Amino acid sequence: LERTFSIIKPDATKRNLTGAIAKKFEDAGLRIVASKRIHLSKAQAGEFYKVHAERPFYDELCEFMASAPIVCQVLEGENAIAKNREVMGATNPADAEAGTIRAEFAESVGENSVHGSDAPETAAEEIAYFFSGLELV
Ligand code: ATP
Ligand code: MG
Repeated sequence: LERTFSIIKPDATKRNLTGAIAKKFEDAGLRIVASKRIHLSKAQAGEFYKVHAERPFYDELCEFMASAPIVCQVLEGENAIAKNREVMGATNPADAEAGTIRAEFAESVGENSVHGSDAPETAAEEIAYFFSGLELV
């Protein structure tokens, strides 16, 4: 079984969508094997999204990710990385397929309710950044 890292972003936690989004993961066959609610500083958000440091939206993205608590989760299942990306839908909710998290809940291309790892290497890195092995059950 594969594992991937997920964040329920501030726009979603603020609107009390944590449970509705977790249900989408579980309905897709993904098991939540770790979960915690944290509030990132802007510097921590910047570290997490440093691959986007040169993008024009980087500062706005870091402000947003530090604007309210987030829920970090590790999802486990067959092809968990691809399956999660499928359930999330396209980055821009205007392009997201009906029934996906972003189609149903995202407010804009920036405030798009969820993050999901995009490859095995980033999944491993992101899981290790937020969780210790003992927290994955
Ligand atoms: P994520 O990495 O959060 O799972 P993604 O892989 O679909 O999303 P990326 O291209 O990696 O999308 O962008 C990372 C995040 O940066 C997006 O999820 C979104 O919050 C923000 N973002 C991306 N493009 C824009 C944009 N044009 N304007 C504002 N914010 C953006
Ligand atoms: Mg990405």
